[in-house]
Amino acid sequence: MRLERTSDDRPSLSIVAPCFNEVESLPTFVERATQACVTAGVGDFELVLVNDGSDDRTWETICELASRQSGIVGVNLARNYGHQLAASAGLSLCRGDRVLLIDADLQDPPELLAALMSRMDEGYDVVYARRRKRPQESAFKLGAASAFYRVLDALSEVRIPVEVGDFRLMTRRVVDRLNALPESDRFIRGMVAWLGGRQAELLYDREPRFAGQTGYTLAKMLRLAAAGITSFSTAPLRLAIWFAGLGALVAGGLILYILIGFLVGRTTPGWTSLALMTAFFGIGQFACMAIIGAYLGRVFVQVKGRPLFYVDEIVGSPIGSPLQATRARRAD
Ligand code: UDP
Ligand code: MG
Repeated sequence: MRLERTSDDRPSLSIVAPCFNEVESLPTFVERATQACVTAGVGDFELVLVNDGSDDRTWETICELASRQSGIVGVNLARNYGHQLAASAGLSLCRGDRVLLIDADLQDPPELLAALMSRMDEGYDVVYARRRKRPQESAFKLGAASAFYRVLDALSEVRIPVEVGDFRLMTRRVVDRLNALPESDRFIRGMVAWLGGRQAELLYDREPRFAGQTGYTLAKMLRLAAAGITSFSTAPLRLAIWFAGLGALVAGGLILYILIGFLVGRTTPGWTSLALMTAFFGIGQFACMAIIGAYLGRVFVQVKGRPLFYVDEIVGSPIGSPLQATRARRAD
């Protein structure tokens, strides 16, 4: 079986496509992807088609295509895990020196491969495709996606490019690093941005779906948005600090007003103590939440267990001998 290959017979390219109810698109997708490889001059490639618990005959179609054409690897997941996990499964099983992650519904044109490859030849680790146009997608989806990308960009500690999905070409080194990240909530485009290295973009026009309907229901979109924001930002946890600060300001004025009212005798018995207690406990609670949020944010970052940093290259002989430097580079 193809998946048992050893590292020395890696194909030069893997195309990884998660498939959920893509029975109608698959034959054309395979044809166009194969043609794109020929055009890009890639002779040895594998096409990893991951069936993400489809309810139609997607898996049977993948098996049929794999029996007809060599180089097709079918992966059947136990159930529907969602796009990000289906893509992660394909990325962890593929073996190519370069990996193209692409949707199977032909919204991402496989023909972009040649341009992505030649951009990568310039020395990039990741070349991601940025959407210039998204025809035939609902106004709601475009609006929601645009708002989400902007919020995410504002909150996230790393720059996650806007209008960029998961359609991208990555080197084996990036894919290995991506696969090694242990977090279970996987937001691939954010994780790749977080990995760093040399990344370039290529503009393209997103095409309408070849057939079928989007598998991204509103619930799945919201889940993806939540995964993106919570995995790449602890800012929401820090909201309590702002509330505590704002609360302290408002309560400061309020306390002054309460005390003056009490001193000039313009108050109802019992109101002063009640109002003071409310203000005091209100700020107290916000302050405690802010403290818990600060710790929780640090616990969350620690629990994700991401490596602290990656070294891409060491030059000269900064750590002892040149031999050690060479080893450090190779260890990757
Ligand atoms: N997909 C998947 N599992 C899902 C939903 C979608 O593997 O639960 C695949 C789908 O077959 C397609 C890609 O992920 O290849 C993108 O999904 P879709 O086209 O439905 O999303 P959209 O392009 O509308 O955002
Ligand atoms: Mg699509």
